[in-house]
Amino acid sequence: MATRRGDGGTFDHGAQYFTARDPRFQALTQRLEAEGVLAPYHGRIAQWSAGVLKPVAAREPRYVGLPGMPGLCKALAQDMEMLYEQQVGGVEQKNGRWSVLPPVGNDDGFDALVLAVPAVQALPLSVVVPDIAARVAQGRHHPCWALMARFEAPLPVDFDAGFVEGVNLGWMMRDSSKPGRAPGERWVLHATAEWSRANLELESDAVVPLLLEALRAVVPAVPPLIEARAHRWRYALSPGLGVGCLLDAQARFGVCGDWCADGRVEGAYLSGLELAGRLLPAL
Ligand SMILES: Cc1cc2nc3c(=O)[nH]c(=O)nc-3n(C[C@H](O)[C@H](O)[C@H](O)COP(=O)(O)OP(=O)(O)OC[C@H]3O[C@@H](n4cnc5c(N)ncnc54)[C@H](O)[C@@H]3O)c2cc1C
Repeated sequence: MATRRGDGGTFDHGAQYFTARDPRFQALTQRLEAEGVLAPYHGRIAQWSAGVLKPVAAREPRYVGLPGMPGLCKALAQDMEMLYEQQVGGVEQKNGRWSVLPPVGNDDGFDALVLAVPAVQALPLSVVVPDIAARVAQGRHHPCWALMARFEAPLPVDFDAGFVEGVNLGWMMRDSSKPGRAPGERWVLHATAEWSRANLELESDAVVPLLLEALRAVVPAVPPLIEARAHRWRYALSPGLGVGCLLDAQARFGVCGDWCADGRVEGAYLSGLELAGRLLPAL
């Protein structure tokens, strides 16, 4: 859930919108919508396949964060002590107390430790609890190249967001069609997982023209470009292990994240909630 600032407004270049299917997440979205942190998204969503366009009906409400997607995370972190820009390189347990390395926070260590990072990044940190590490090694994420593009004029299409099939793009969305965003013609395009994997190590400048070319297969008359940047997500959408979360209650060591449960914003939330529900009684 990330937002990039461009010259002419912002781009949500990761998660696009999210849905709430579970009553526990619905309760949160309803509260945060009332607090002005989330807003429903009512844009026109379509499926484009080999030039054939079909509208996609909403099975449930779609939400976006305000003023950008991270609005939801900021609201949840509001009452917590947060340390930003700290990369955790390792974790250790001494005399039953957990610490992160390099050391930050509490000198006496912590009662419990929870990793909430993608599986590939959780793996080297979880080797201290081998049973958990073996499960973490099964977690999967697909990569995704994202293009953020601003055009001089509206793209001549009858939709604001589209699932795309048959070209190297999987998704495109008019970012400026979301509530609370600056006006303008800003689009976020996501390459397919296959194309992203095959081109993962390209420089981002080299990806820009390739994804614009893929866009031309969907929209032949693309208006002149004002700015464009590409971002490489190494660990994007996850198929999800369907285990909810991982916990060694005796060691008080847990792992959560979308990839444990279901690879969506709601899956990430429910994974954390489930871990809290199982860990807190052990403390
Ligand atoms: C391109 C893309 C499109 C998506 N589209 C949608 C969508 O439309 N709808 C939807 O519901 N979901 C979507 N998702 C998925 C959604 O964003 C994720 O499900 C959700 O963000 C997962 O949350 P998380 O907390 O599990 O992990 P993350 O959001 O990955 O957060 C993990 C955090 O841990 C940090 N971290 C990692 N390693 C370390 C370390 N060693 N030390 C310190 N910090 C570390 C990372 O920097 C990151 O900030 C999309 C994701 C991507 C990338």
